[in-house]
Amino acid sequence: MTTQSDSNLPALLKSALDHMIIPIVSQSEIATNGLSIYARGEGCRLWTEDNREYLDMLGSPTRANTLGYGNQEIAKAVYDQLVNVHFVGTAANTTEPAIRLAEKLSEILPGDLSRIFFVSTGSEAVEGALKLAKQYHQAKGKKPRAYKVISRWNAYHGATMGCLSVTDWLPVRNIPDPRVPGNSFIPSPTRYRNPFGVTDEVWAEMCATYLEKQIELEGPENIAAFIGEPIMQAHGVQIPTQNYWRRVREICTKHDILLICDEVITGFGRTGTWFASEQFGIVPDIITMAKAMSAGYVPAGAVATRPEIADAIPMYRNVHTYSGHAGAMAASLKVIEIKEREELLSKARNNGVYLQEALRSALGSSPIVGEVRGIGHWHAIDFTSDKSTKAPFEDETVKAVMNAMHEMGVLVTAIGHSIEMSPPLIASREELDKAVEVAAAAIDEVSKARGFG
Ligand code: PLP
Repeated sequence: MTTQSDSNLPALLKSALDHMIIPIVSQSEIATNGLSIYARGEGCRLWTEDNREYLDMLGSPTRANTLGYGNQEIAKAVYDQLVNVHFVGTAANTTEPAIRLAEKLSEILPGDLSRIFFVSTGSEAVEGALKLAKQYHQAKGKKPRAYKVISRWNAYHGATMGCLSVTDWLPVRNIPDPRVPGNSFIPSPTRYRNPFGVTDEVWAEMCATYLEKQIELEGPENIAAFIGEPIMQAHGVQIPTQNYWRRVREICTKHDILLICDEVITGFGRTGTWFASEQFGIVPDIITMAKAMSAGYVPAGAVATRPEIADAIPMYRNVHTYSGHAGAMAASLKVIEIKEREELLSKARNNGVYLQEALRSALGSSPIVGEVRGIGHWHAIDFTSDKSTKAPFEDETVKAVMNAMHEMGVLVTAIGHSIEMSPPLIASREELDKAVEVAAAAIDEVSKARGFG
């Protein structure tokens, strides 16, 4: 395979800067660092236009890529579908792969979540879930005016206005108000550090109690739903204590509030099970999914709910042009087939234990590593400037580690106080070992440069 010559790069970069709006990175940073322009990928490896090679331990910088680059089987499934019938619109028009995928999802989703609405992105899935919850209460008639939604500190649920209104991530949230009214935020059960310095178990219990208090404050009759990521991404893979989601489930049921688990990142094997809610022994009322549903090959997402909820609504008032696009359906079916055939979920569970042990033994003695945590193919290294107080770095230390790892050829991301790793599920033990080795070298370099020894 060939790459474009180095001499093409300055022109391409100039063209990008002249004509593209780059999101979530400041213009000054783009001006200093430029862009990463990738030319090709294979397995877990990526090459830039100027032929730099990277080991992608991030799943295509979005955590979507669970099956690596250059998967011919998925590409062929999409191609075959597109040349057969690519798209027939939405509403009462559909295709066989959409029906087959809805059937397959019903099989792998937890509990009786067996009614599916297809979308193209995670944001559309969350919008669809919020509308579903509100329409359900209106149709059922017991709480016809329920419009409020409770979310959590640090939550990320997408970039469209409805999603943004239940999101607490400043780079996207800080736009002029008003956002969609009626939403409020309660604390989330962060691991390692919390505002009161109590144990993780006590903090998780307090967070569940906050939910009950918030429901009383807002009035249960006004609240349609509670939304949360089963394992939150903010500040790195926040795996709550086992009891947390069970308590949340009980509280939502008690007050007739629909529980939406946003599994846009955690769905489709990232944590070693099809959906992360399974790991906490709960069945939500609604699950949102996207990203790894199609392993990033084409945009695909979905909202799943129980028959009781879907049946209560005479007509679901929500529509997107590309809902159930046949190419996306074919890709997602193939992705599930490959994950089942290659037993990638059980491999992810085993690799998760392996990677945790390797990271802990390589990084445990670093003066700036506070905690290493993770599950399946999703791990975080949480940094601190003071192990006794667990104080996070307020400067660029975590970013410096990320940059050092990039320099050494391994792609990871800095997420708040942590470095996040989300390797594709096909990553080999050798590739995971390489990531650990590079993390240890980068952390050592940064820690010494900053006087931590
Ligand atoms: N929900 C969660 C938990 C996410 O992590 C994301 C994206 O990162 C979204 C929703 C939004 O998905 P998208 O960017 O596909 O609209």
